[in-house]
Amino acid sequence: MTLRLYNTLSRTKEEFVPIDPEIVRMYVCGPTVYDFAHIGNARPVVVFDVLFRLLRHLYGEDHVAYVRNITDIDDKINARALERRGARNVPILDVVRELTSETGQIYDEDTAALGNLPPTRTPRATEHILPMVTMIAKLVALGHAYMAEGHVLFDVSSKADYGKLSRRSLDEMVAGARVEVAPYKRSPMDFVLWKPSDVATPGWESPWGRGRPGWHVECSAMSEFYLGETFDIHGGGIDLVFPHHENEIAQSEAAHREHAMANYWLHNGFLNVEGEKMSKSLGNFVTIHELLADWPGDVLRLNMLRSHYRQPMDWTVHGMKESWGMLERWYDAAEPIASRRIGDAFLAALCDDLNTPQAIAELHKGSVEELSGGLSLLGFSVVSERIEAKSSVDAGEITRDIGARNAARKARDFKEADRIRDKLLAKGIVLKDGPEGTTWEVKR
Ligand code: AMP
Ligand code: ZN
Repeated sequence: MTLRLYNTLSRTKEEFVPIDPEIVRMYVCGPTVYDFAHIGNARPVVVFDVLFRLLRHLYGEDHVAYVRNITDIDDKINARALERRGARNVPILDVVRELTSETGQIYDEDTAALGNLPPTRTPRATEHILPMVTMIAKLVALGHAYMAEGHVLFDVSSKADYGKLSRRSLDEMVAGARVEVAPYKRSPMDFVLWKPSDVATPGWESPWGRGRPGWHVECSAMSEFYLGETFDIHGGGIDLVFPHHENEIAQSEAAHREHAMANYWLHNGFLNVEGEKMSKSLGNFVTIHELLADWPGDVLRLNMLRSHYRQPMDWTVHGMKESWGMLERWYDAAEPIASRRIGDAFLAALCDDLNTPQAIAELHKGSVEELSGGLSLLGFSVVSERIEAKSSVDAGEITRDIGARNAARKARDFKEADRIRDKLLAKGIVLKDGPEGTTWEVKR
């Protein structure tokens, strides 16, 4: 089946042709780890996980390399680390490590709870300073970068096609977000490759003094390190098109004799909460961690996938409730692994630029085998566990156990009653005592 993907570079849906079908290569910009990730940050994680799973289905499990970086050096991280260090007499880089390892671990747990596979590699920026320094040195040698007041800057005027991804005019770019005006820049568009660090800030020795890399060069250097000069797919949220991805392209192409950095550029739309942009001041800033305390990960995952990835989406409690109801009906209908099948219409929808809403609609129409196969391809992990449990449960035996437990309770032998309850719990069966008597369900 032909996979078609919307390429931001061409603004069209294109047939996906990998450079080497033996190893399809994808890079996605990962989190800056200093705090809990919000539900908007979960969107690229889920979207590109579905693409990763689809590619594994189409090309084979061992034939897809997915790299997602961890930004563990950044001014916000440094500020948090300084606060955290307080009066302790330890090197600042150690505190950065502490902070980013803790936050990174929570991120891994939260994203795993949403049913995402770990990427093939998750490189940390601080462990790849050398490839970054090497790339910057190359850019300087080639005349694409210059030094000014301890900084190394990329000279945007040295790259004739700068702006080709975002298709912005220079004026729009200057007025755009995250462009820093500084006196040492030849042009306000020039961006930092390396900046000096004072003693209180983490830094590494380099040909330009002790300093740290800029954000954009991280991705260019690490994607080259793991995936080569040109790879297949580069992804991230739509806010990264400019300046982050524009700058990644400029650096990588300039360093690689103008070879393309990636052939397909994919961007997910933004997520709002209850109709508003998420922000701490509006009080609608929702972390993945908080949501997972109240909602099963599968519900959050389904809620994410009910919108097409390129559309803006509105994250609401109403939507999560609907998604939960849908999953419950699927749990009841789906069958064990033995009878999985990937439906043609379902797969065609996914291959049409990851049309997950359409794919989900096809699951409703398809057979039970196709429902089970589709849920599993989409990464609904708990569903599979619950379905497996369902298949191994002997309902007659549970009914007999419930009878024995009720008899024990009547005889005030609570020890025996608890033993029976715990025995069932160990098999994943939860008993619920209500006015109608005792019912049971498979633990989620
Ligand atoms: P950041 O840590 O801010 O660099 O974001 C990590 C990833 O989440 C990037 O791919 C962003 O584009 C994406 N992202 C951030 N906020 C949202 C949002 N509200 N909706 C969708 N994606 C987002
Ligand atoms: Zn990046």
